[in-house]
Amino acid sequence: MSQAGGLAYDVFVNDPPPQDGVLPNGEPKRFSPMASTLIYGGQDAVLTDPGLTGDQARALGDWVAGRGRNLTHIFVTHGHGDHWFNAGLLAERFGARVVASAGTITQMQGGVATRPLLWDKLYPGMIPPSPVTAVTVPDNRFTLEGHDLVIVEAGHTDSDDTTVLHVPDLELVVAGDAIYNGVHMYLGQSAVSGFGPWRDAIATVEALGPRHIVTGHQNRELDDDAARTIAETRQYLDDAEELLRTEDTAEGFFSAKIERYPDYLGRLILWVSARALYGAREHPEEPLGKITLSSWL
Ligand SMILES: [Zn+2]
Repeated sequence: MSQAGGLAYDVFVNDPPPQDGVLPNGEPKRFSPMASTLIYGGQDAVLTDPGLTGDQARALGDWVAGRGRNLTHIFVTHGHGDHWFNAGLLAERFGARVVASAGTITQMQGGVATRPLLWDKLYPGMIPPSPVTAVTVPDNRFTLEGHDLVIVEAGHTDSDDTTVLHVPDLELVVAGDAIYNGVHMYLGQSAVSGFGPWRDAIATVEALGPRHIVTGHQNRELDDDAARTIAETRQYLDDAEELLRTEDTAEGFFSAKIERYPDYLGRLILWVSARALYGAREHPEEPLGKITLSSWL
């Protein structure tokens, strides 16, 4: 928790949902923990990235309710379903508006189309109805008790048209999947573009001058130091580029990353990323969307 001029924030980290199947090293498939940020004043609050499954919605919703604030907005950083399929459920529970950038709203509609092909297969019966109810806000800005909350376009990171939320009065950036903290990064959708656009997004976040960064996926034991999370996110991309040169197979990449990052959570994401990166290399004729989708299943 951090406090400045009547505004504060706190983070709730949900456990990944249960899942069938094992990874190449024999351990169970596990998604990354999901983090939601509550930014609050004396009366009102704003929640970010409300998660994926009904169980997560209940746990997060009860935590929010315990804060005793009036939830005015639910902000969604990007279109991936793990960040927002619960938005409708929680918006209804708290009477809040769901807000996102125009680009993210388009990506959310894509996420709805992908849902039966991916998310409902991974987590059957666990995900609530997910209509896209998000709206844009003028100039990508809204306020919480007079404090500015600014939606900043980050472009391509782990997917297209991603954004972060900048709260200048808290020196805080809620970074979605532009920055990671102690968990494996989802690299699959960068298999064709490379990591240049993502590096630009990291620079965009850094230029906001945050002291604190809350990442969309994180190890809850770690702090939210901006300089550390930015440096580690860059390093992870550097290492991935190096391993893409030295490792010939997805399995080799997977093992080598674990060797370098033994404490990172969400090895399912590492395996999916490895399969997509090497799948795109081995089948350049196939559309990347098809490759990333099959990498999950
Ligand atoms: Zn994502």
